[in-house]
Amino acid sequence: MTDLQASNSTQYRRLRVALLGAGAVGSQVADLLLRHGDELADRAGASLELAGIAVRDVNAKRDVELPAELFTTDAESLIVGSDIVIELMGGIEPAREQLLLALNSGADVVTANKALLATHGPELFEAADQVGASVYYEAAAAGAIPIIRPLRDSLAGDRVVRIMGIVNGTTNYILDRMDTEGADFAEVLADAQRLGYAESDPTADVEGYDAAQKAAILASLAFHTTVPLDAVYREGITQITPAMIDEARAAGFVIKLLAVCERLTVDGAESISVRVYPALVARTHPLASVHGANNAVFVEAEAAGSLMFYGAGAGGVQTASAVLGDVVSAARRHIAGGVGVGESTRANLPTVPIGHVITRYQVTLEVADQPGVLASIAGILSDGGVSVATVVQTVEGPSAGSETDGSATARLIIGTHRAPEQALSDTVERLASSAVVDRVVSVLRVEGE
Ligand code: NAP
Repeated sequence: MTDLQASNSTQYRRLRVALLGAGAVGSQVADLLLRHGDELADRAGASLELAGIAVRDVNAKRDVELPAELFTTDAESLIVGSDIVIELMGGIEPAREQLLLALNSGADVVTANKALLATHGPELFEAADQVGASVYYEAAAAGAIPIIRPLRDSLAGDRVVRIMGIVNGTTNYILDRMDTEGADFAEVLADAQRLGYAESDPTADVEGYDAAQKAAILASLAFHTTVPLDAVYREGITQITPAMIDEARAAGFVIKLLAVCERLTVDGAESISVRVYPALVARTHPLASVHGANNAVFVEAEAAGSLMFYGAGAGGVQTASAVLGDVVSAARRHIAGGVGVGESTRANLPTVPIGHVITRYQVTLEVADQPGVLASIAGILSDGGVSVATVVQTVEGPSAGSETDGSATARLIIGTHRAPEQALSDTVERLASSAVVDRVVSVLRVEGE
């Protein structure tokens, strides 16, 4: 074969593309590359030759039919000599080693691997810089939704103030069904597993680890700063009950697992906070209308104002769209020559602990329904520097196991004004140990106001 190939009537330089992995995403990428080769060549200005597909088991059944002769278990031989290497295996090793090999062999790399980027991103970016190559990763956060390029390129002239993302489809599906059907967490999770929305081990999704990896990636881009995964504060959704959903609704909120990346000023110094937790979002906020397994990323920038990016956060063929966009970009760069742009991390802002974050809170307490209780609680809050905005009280009958000795129990739902997280958590500790409080039922932060 020559280095030039014809697409329609145009002669293009041929680029050798190696694909690592042919699972949910990889098989769709291979299929689209093979079926739309001519169109992609016209867009990229290069003919994209799928040189091979490295997998663990060449005989495994694939989601789409692909030519058997493309499959190999020898990833290294496939990588060396390729112009573009697409990594869709997932996991840290051998993905990390093989991408380093690809970069050091002069290839541009495309990956959807958020776990790898959130933990070893700087090592890969550094390796790319050394050889003037590029790492493309549009599919690594929020699947098909274009969010990496907007943050990296379109908003490069602006200052991002805050990002609030629904970046995990599984948890959004669970919380949405809890909200619309009044179902409980375990019931919806079991359903989600049956329907393929949740893994058999759902920990990465429901405990917020997956969202934290995406938050680290988005914050790094938005604030031109390397944000390590261990700087991301994380809570999952396993503690969310139907009662919390009902109380949220009564107060005009919906509960969403959010990845929040925010620019802050702490002690006069510019810094950032990156956190993942279930939060109360006003039902009028655009993020409240993100249903099912969909994702959305709400970006606030100084000049641009508010922007919302919405769509499918996962799915084989949907994610393949983002991967192929990266392949076209990589091909264009290869053809144009010059060095890759590299990551912008010069701002180097410190990531502050959760205690510095300032938001409103909704605190739900179970207390004895007795005179003076409300005043005692108001006193504890005020002493802690937390000011009360609203109080809703509901009275229930004697609560089993409560310390009220058969007397009625009141449920207090306290909405606070904005307060630092440290002040709020110290105050909640004092409330929990106070004689007038039976139980701190829940503490939820309010976001998006
Ligand atoms: P998947 O279905 O589990 O497929 C993984 C593929 O990689 C399989 O073909 C597997 O080969 C191959 N593989 C795994 N380990 C390998 C090894 N050591 N050597 C050679 N091949 C190996 O994964 P996926 O869902 O397509 O996800 C791929 C990547 O995309 C992950 O980083 C994931 O986080 C990311 N992503 C996925 C989605 C989604 O909706 N699925 C969305 C956004 C991002 P065998 O088939 O032979 O076992």
